[in-house]
Amino acid sequence: MKKVYIETYGCQMNEHDSERMLAILSDNGYVQTDKPKEAEVVIVNTCSVRAKAEQKAYSSIGRYTGLKKGKPGSEKDRVVVFSGCVAQQEGKKLLGRFKGLNIVVGPSQVHRIDELVNKAKTDGTVIAVAPDKDQERFRNPVKGVHGVKAFVTIMEGCDNFCSYCTVPYLRGREVSRHARNIIDEVYALVASGVKEVVLLGQNVNSYRDNSEGRQITLYELLSALNDIKGLERIRFITSHPKDLTDELVHAFTDFQKVCPHLHLPIQSGSDRILKLMARGYTVKEYRDRIDRIRALMPDIALTSDFIVGFPSETGEDHRDTIQFIRRANYDNIFSFKYSDRRLARASTYDGKVPVQVIAGRLKELQDAQLEITRKIYGALTGTLQQVLVEGESKKQGRQQGRTAHGRIVNFSGTVPEGTVANVLIDDYSDNALYGKHITEEE
Ligand code: SF4
Repeated sequence: MKKVYIETYGCQMNEHDSERMLAILSDNGYVQTDKPKEAEVVIVNTCSVRAKAEQKAYSSIGRYTGLKKGKPGSEKDRVVVFSGCVAQQEGKKLLGRFKGLNIVVGPSQVHRIDELVNKAKTDGTVIAVAPDKDQERFRNPVKGVHGVKAFVTIMEGCDNFCSYCTVPYLRGREVSRHARNIIDEVYALVASGVKEVVLLGQNVNSYRDNSEGRQITLYELLSALNDIKGLERIRFITSHPKDLTDELVHAFTDFQKVCPHLHLPIQSGSDRILKLMARGYTVKEYRDRIDRIRALMPDIALTSDFIVGFPSETGEDHRDTIQFIRRANYDNIFSFKYSDRRLARASTYDGKVPVQVIAGRLKELQDAQLEITRKIYGALTGTLQQVLVEGESKKQGRQQGRTAHGRIVNFSGTVPEGTVANVLIDDYSDNALYGKHITEEE
């Protein structure tokens, strides 16, 4: 049996690209293994957003190409693939750097993985990094790789050019997928047992499909998906604050299946830093936006992203960020240390913040958020939550699922996967709620 091993770094788009490569290869008779030595195809799907992930990917590729050395025969057939944003960034150079590397493939060409593997078997090496604007780039055979929840790409690329980010250079400019193909994919997912879809894109708010003679926006797409029988929940990430229209905000109340959870990255609570980041909004504009959302839907769960230690960030900028976090009352945040990325403009900015200072600020930020998360989770103790059951929890004897607000719940019970269970919350940790399944009779 042909086996494929895949290792993924980075964002959910990358996770989903890996899923797609696996689905395409499984259509070609491959099964997944967690042992690289057993695999005929070894893929490292890389991320260039942070220096650490990039370094880890290089060392993995070094290890896997090294597996070939001195082992002729069966080893010579192994195909080693370097995919994702670092592959796009470095291109052909990687073949010189890693002897034994066969394929370098950028994010917009991963849908060709089957064809590329076959080509590498005859030609030895293949490069596929030219940007692909064709709709075929979204190809995703829906087959047996999904549980209760599935990711669905609706657009790729970004036109925003935030000064710290390499996405527009590596994933290219925005391309929206045709709504018809998205709707068909969601129907197929639901038929295979999926109950929740997460619509993915670097900037989903600017989704626009003009293929049917008129413009279809994200709001309209959500409206169409909301009508699919058997689908229970819809989420979408990532939203850019400057493109979040009032119409889209109303999707939370207009469509019953759109979950009351919005991930809205602000990145910093200082106007000066936001300007340097070229984010296109001020703190006040962002704050007004979330106030409007909460006026419409008071209990919506908001989450956000932060970059700590952007060039020239002062103690005062950092304090403004912490103050902002306290006011925004996020359920949770994702916070990262700033690191220079070669293609990004900010890598040329003066005023680099020392690493120890960044580490200290990151901890302060995370501690401030932890206090807020604990308060929100603590207030949920004693409430009944509707949990979409995703499977077994890592803790033995418990099940795990999520509320519509996106909160993880571990609970005792024996509820079939894909069912919405009533769970009475009796405890919480820093990242999950705990409880017990309540049956109808109770
Ligand atoms: S919005 Fe900014 S941070 Fe997000 S992908 Fe686009 S350029 Fe990068």
